[in-house]
Amino acid sequence: DKDPRIHGIQSKIRVVPNFPKPGIMFQDITTLLLDPKAFKDTVDLFVERYKGKNISVVAGIEARGFIFGPPIALEIGAKFVPLRKPKKLPGRVISEEYELEYGRDCLEMHLGAVEPGEQALVVDDLIATGGTLCAAMKLLGSRTVERQAIICTSGVPLILDQRHSLLETVHHVNEMYIR
Ligand code: AMP
Repeated sequence: DKDPRIHGIQSKIRVVPNFPKPGIMFQDITTLLLDPKAFKDTVDLFVERYKGKNISVVAGIEARGFIFGPPIALEIGAKFVPLRKPKKLPGRVISEEYELEYGRDCLEMHLGAVEPGEQALVVDDLIATGGTLCAAMKLLGSRTVERQAIICTSGVPLILDQRHSLLETVHHVNEMYIR
């Protein structure tokens, strides 16, 4: 019952072992971008799922959410809001720190970019621990009702579509990651 386009998308994601450090299976989406059909199929899958669902914000996580987010936003008629690494945005921001495997990182969003009551779709290329996604969801607060990313686990991209709490989402993501 999996959409046949997903296999095509998966076959275009290059897996690079031990990059950027030993033990990491890096999922390289730049090879997907080289194939216009696979790139379009990726965008279309999100558009088909979210068009007409009253989503007015697509929030893209720096940097690969800036590649997939804008074409989805244009097609579903939503605004695009970049969630950036620290000290990149010139206006007043709200910040959310999160844990990385080693150390901490932070995402920032311009104040006023999102209004109370808006519904947002968070876009990134991949979920590993879910830490980045959780930080994004906290920045957007309760306005985020949908969160989705392409997950590549054991080289199999899955589409995650969760409507649960932060904790449940992370738990679910970790389960998928282990498989
Ligand atoms: P996490 O916060 O642990 O869920 O990590 C997700 C973020 O790190 C995403 O922005 C991904 O682009 C990046 N990332 C984590 N692991 C990988 C990987 N194996 N290959 C490519 N990108 C990754």
